[in-house]
Amino acid sequence: MVRPMKTISCDICPAHFSAESFDDWFRQMQTHYMSDHADVMAAMAHKPKAEGQAWVVAARKRFDEG
Ligand SMILES: [Zn+2]
Repeated sequence: MVRPMKTISCDICPAHFSAESFDDWFRQMQTHYMSDHADVMAAMAHKPKAEGQAWVVAARKRFDEG
């Protein structure tokens, strides 16, 4: 089964990334966050772990529905 490429945008800026799987898209987002949203990453580090997990759940939902 060939999975179609999905293009999902960043939740902060208009940048978007194409991937066949959520994990692949998530890896690209991590790199993007580290280079373009380092301040958000830093702020996230001080928040409860649950918030980071909630972000991943919401991002996965956007990917699945996208
Ligand atoms: Zn972005």
